This record gives sequence, structure tokens and C-alpha cells, in this order.
Amino acid sequence: MTSDVNAVEPSAHEGSSEESNRCGYVAIVGRPNVGKSTLLNHLIGQKLSITSRRPQTTRHQVLGIRTEQGVQTVFVDTPGMHKVQKKAINRYMNKAATSALTGIDAVVFVVDRLTWNEEDDLVLEKVKGARCPVILAINKVDKISDKAKLMPHLETLSGKMDFHAVIPISAQHGHNLKELDDLITHLIPEGIHHFPEDQLTDRSSRFLAAELVREKVMRQLGDELPYEITVEIEEFKHEVRPKGPLLTISALILVERAGQKAIVIGDRGTRLKQIGQDARKDMEQMFDSKVMLHLWVKVKAGWSDDERALKSLGYDHS
Ligand code: GDP
Ligand code: MG
Repeated sequence: MTSDVNAVEPSAHEGSSEESNRCGYVAIVGRPNVGKSTLLNHLIGQKLSITSRRPQTTRHQVLGIRTEQGVQTVFVDTPGMHKVQKKAINRYMNKAATSALTGIDAVVFVVDRLTWNEEDDLVLEKVKGARCPVILAINKVDKISDKAKLMPHLETLSGKMDFHAVIPISAQHGHNLKELDDLITHLIPEGIHHFPEDQLTDRSSRFLAAELVREKVMRQLGDELPYEITVEIEEFKHEVRPKGPLLTISALILVERAGQKAIVIGDRGTRLKQIGQDARKDMEQMFDSKVMLHLWVKVKAGWSDDERALKSLGYDHS
């Protein structure tokens, strides 16, 4: 595999210049759908964390690593924090979100425009225990039509805790991201780099490929499917050909019911074909290689509420 988004264990890594002397972890937290993954992608400058209009798209904790001018910033994108913990998958997600707040140097707490609900309160309670500076980022301000409402709202939110800063942003349109980034960078302490300079994530190429397929399924299906789908990569083969590198990827889309399988496949397979085309395009960009992608859909009943099945699929976060 030639991809440089390969999994490497974190290890003390000597920087190449004398400037390589700062390293820190920044957690991006907030309830589902506020724009955490979109923000991470913009800060890193590459598509790492999948996004969609549907809540709960991000199931795993993903590290996005950026090393610039001697400063290594390790962003932790967390699955949303939830109130309801009925199913095993929700319990897993909550655990992953809470553990993201240990050993970090700064928190970016993302909220959605002028809304504040009890899920935000829950996140607030968790970040209060973080013992590091917390920046409150009010996202999607591009969608606020009455800008006059923003100032009083900023003031109300500022009173919720002693925030390091409160900043309105648009993760999607890049508004105020430079300012946010400067605030973050100032909070990165001195320290040896934990990752090689060119490493972008702690996740394997297989994992990223699976997440891309999952993103496309969610995008295509909108509200037609509950979030209980998962993707397994069965084959990930790299070949060097005279015409250039070729990556052959076979992915299995697991759904809960036969009806969902039909929905994912679509009329005469048109939907699955679109999912495949979109995923392949992103993969070619991500892996810098031509990609041959094979997709299958299979019914795996009840997986989201079966701890053992979750483990076998790699959700064995502890
Ligand atoms: P997460 O669940 O917090 O990771 O949220 P995502 O990053 O997946 O974003 C959820 C949805 O909000 C997606 O449809 C994004 O395109 C959208 N979104 C994120 N940031 C912005 C923004 O600044 N403006 C607007 N209008 N939409 C945004
Ligand atoms: Mg996300």
C-alpha cells in the first residue's frame, strides 16, 4: 500500500527542525449534527471525517493530525454525546465521546446557530470537567438570517461557563476559521511531536475507505434508512501497474432488514451504482490511486444491539 494515510502507532517522533517543539491534543465536541466533522475537515484541509445531514454519522473517534511550522495539532473528532443509551451502539458512542476529554490541551465546543437544548447542556457538563481551556464555536452562522440576534445570544452563551473564547464560525464556508485556528494554536503546549510530520490520521486506509462508503450510503438515503448500517472492507489490494497504481477494494454494506437492502440497492441497482461512483471518486483522491470498487449489500439482523457483533466489527473501544 503506498497511501500515506496509513495507520502508525503513536510514538515519540523527533521533528526535523529546531522549531518542532510544540504538540497538543484538541477535542472537537458537541451534540450530533452541529458540524464537528465539517470543522475537522477544514482545519486539517483534507477529507478525513465523514459528514452528512443525518445525525450520528461519525461513530468512531477519529484523530486528524496537522503539523505546520513546528506545531503538531492532533484533533479528536468525537461521536456526538447522547442522552438515550438504549442500544449497545449508543453506549459505545457515549463512551468514545467521554474518553475523548482526557489528556487533551484544548476543547472546541461546537453548537448550532442560535439553538441551545438539553443535549448541549449535557455536553457542557462534560466539558466543564475537562480542566483545559474551552473555546465555544457557534457554527453555521451563514444560515442565520437575522444577524442582530447573534450578539445577545453570544452574551447568553458566554455566561454558561468561563470560556476561553466565544467565536461565531461557518465551518462549511470557512468564516472565522483562521481566527479560530489561531486561538487553538496559541493553546498548543511545548512538547515533542507524537506523529511523523506527514501523517494525517491514526486510522488505517481500510477504515477510511469503509467510512467513505458509509458516508455515501447515508447521503443517498436521507431519511429512508435508520442509522444502523455499517461497512466492512473485505478486500484492500494494491497493485503497481504499467499505467499507474491500482487499488482494488471490496466492501460489504451491512443493513438490518431485507427491506433496507432493497432500498440501498435501488431500482435496478441504480442507487448502489451511484453510491459506488461517489465513493470511488473520493477514494481515488484520498489514496492518490486509481480505484476499482466492488460493493455488496447484506442483511445482518440486530447487529446494533449485540455487543459481540459490535466487537467483531471492530467497535471494541474500551
Ligand atoms: P457532526 O455530526 O457534528 O460531525 O456534523 P457534520 O459535520 O456531519 O455536519 C452536519 C451537517 O451540517 C452537514 O450536512 C454539514 O454539511 C452541515 N454543516 C456543517 N457546518 C456547516 C456550516 O457552517 N453551515 C451550514 N449551512 N451547514 C453546515
Ligand atoms: Mg461527525
